[in-house]
Amino acid sequence: MSLLHSVNLTHLGMEAAATEYVLDVYRGDLEHDDAPGNKWHKLQYHLAEAKKRKAKVVATFGGPFSNHLHAFGNTLEHLPFKAVAVIRGELHPILTPTLRDMALRGVELWPTSRSDYRLGQLSWVANEINRNNEKVYWIPEGGGGLLGVLGCRDWAENIARFAGQYDAWVISSGTGTTAAGFLACHDTPKLHVFSALKGSQTQCQEIHSQALNALLTNRGSGLDNSGLNNKAIAERLTDKLHFHSDSHEGGYAKSSPALKEFLREFAVSNADCCLDPVYTSKSMLAVVRAMRSGEWPYQRTLFIHTGGLQGWRGFSAQNNPFKVF
Ligand SMILES: *Cc1c(COP(=O)(O)O)cnc(C)c1O
Repeated sequence: MSLLHSVNLTHLGMEAAATEYVLDVYRGDLEHDDAPGNKWHKLQYHLAEAKKRKAKVVATFGGPFSNHLHAFGNTLEHLPFKAVAVIRGELHPILTPTLRDMALRGVELWPTSRSDYRLGQLSWVANEINRNNEKVYWIPEGGGGLLGVLGCRDWAENIARFAGQYDAWVISSGTGTTAAGFLACHDTPKLHVFSALKGSQTQCQEIHSQALNALLTNRGSGLDNSGLNNKAIAERLTDKLHFHSDSHEGGYAKSSPALKEFLREFAVSNADCCLDPVYTSKSMLAVVRAMRSGEWPYQRTLFIHTGGLQGWRGFSAQNNPFKVF
């Protein structure tokens, strides 16, 4: 299947305007069969670092339906590390489908209370894991940090080469790590970031500073900032970044009647381009809304599909119009 999907905009309530806009999807959800979407990319520099430090164990954190944990388990299965995951909350006798997949891939699962979980690498459970194992490399929740940003910057560079010219790109955000990596890529055009979190207004600054940090770090590929001082680089990033904090449809992993209605329509008119329930469905709704009202200022837009379809397994099948899981 092609990695570019052209969104059929008719039947999405915008027949008249549909002819003016091109909205293509870069199908990140079709990359890496067992670890699709952005999470695989967020892991790459972390895993290289673990190897460099000669770690024996790689450990991370996540919730019971986490896309990050799922990608972690499937990626680590093929690597010479022992994989350990700290799970937010109790392990119930019947594991979630995500945790079951991880157990089957040989990941050691450690349950923890929410209050201990919040302490991250300072938690009791992390301490136990360090005590019971030699040379543990810890990946932050969601695969974040500078190393996560660098992996996403590489991903953006590959997408730019593959997909060609667009006026704007659209990306979904949670922690903002992926958005920061995309912002740090020279070839990214205007970048519209839609947050899946409620109350994320201040995250724009965080994305900006993480991208700047990545650009000023001499790791990896072609920096193009020769001749530009830091202030000029920062201004260029400000100019490129457009952050939206009002498209969460009620909050993280929540839904709304408008979102449900939109997904039903989208699943009919774009049956082979499934969206995930937490991130991409909300960003897609926000972009289509802006196009519908004539407020979207770009003719050619590339929407980055960040994956996450396995997350449907945490929702009732009734709400899933794509029937992927
Ligand atoms: C995790 C995730 C995101 C958010 O990525 P961040 O780097 O945390 O902003 C977006 N889309 C999908 C499908 C995800 O699983």
